[in-house]
Amino acid sequence: MEEEKKVKAAKAEEKKAPAKKAAPAETKKPSAAALKAALAQMEEQETGKKKNTVLWRVLAFVMWALAIVAMYLPQIGNLELPFGAMRMLVLKNYTPMIIDIVVAVALCIGAALLWKKANHIHPVKSHNKIVQFIWNQLGLIMAFLIFFVIGLVLILKNDKLDAKTKKIAIAALAAITLLVGGVSADYHPVTQDEVDKVTQEYNIDTQDPDGCYWTTYGRKYHLFDDCQALSNTSAENLHHTSLQEAWEANRGELCSFCAKRATDNGVGGGAVTPANP
Ligand SMILES: [Zn+2]
Repeated sequence: MEEEKKVKAAKAEEKKAPAKKAAPAETKKPSAAALKAALAQMEEQETGKKKNTVLWRVLAFVMWALAIVAMYLPQIGNLELPFGAMRMLVLKNYTPMIIDIVVAVALCIGAALLWKKANHIHPVKSHNKIVQFIWNQLGLIMAFLIFFVIGLVLILKNDKLDAKTKKIAIAALAAITLLVGGVSADYHPVTQDEVDKVTQEYNIDTQDPDGCYWTTYGRKYHLFDDCQALSNTSAENLHHTSLQEAWEANRGELCSFCAKRATDNGVGGGAVTPANP
């Protein structure tokens, strides 16, 4: 028995070992989101214009709070406010209930998008993995709290609803949570550590005249002139400038195709070159 255990343990170790060795090479590749954030932070430094991510975060919390109001506002005195989807359910007042839920869903999704947008310019600074997870997935966590946890507690505690209505309401809350949570999750989370690494590893020359490409009508800039997003742009509408000039022309966001290509291939446009290809 003892021998068998040892053999199994040794085999398990063998399996683990190569994975451990491969991991550093995998994590070394910066993500497209990290490159985008690095360039956005560089733009802030060079132009002196800060993106107001604090305001976006405050707005996100206001919207989450309003979503709670739309879902769970209780009766206040004699006021017959139409908000509070849960109260409307008990009153069997289904039209305002559905409107409340739609409003709450829209508020939660809007809040999560603002939160993610802020994170992709000024990512979480903590080195703690748990803090990083909570910070990056706050939209998902809030969706779960607002639509599922609070709703479940209130439904289970409610003695005016019959068992069948409770079951339907809980199933509906679960479905809404999945929908809002799915949109709110950040599938490309970034940390400031990753951004600092990109800034260190990539030699980003903001003055390089071959730096980037942008179009008269587009709001983003590109690192590659053969980017798929530029395929329909005529030559007269395509501008080829340094990053600095693109930022001054209010093109502050790097195209996602170009960001992915630059980090995948490790080949930059004029201004963005990895230090160690
Ligand atoms: Zn592009």
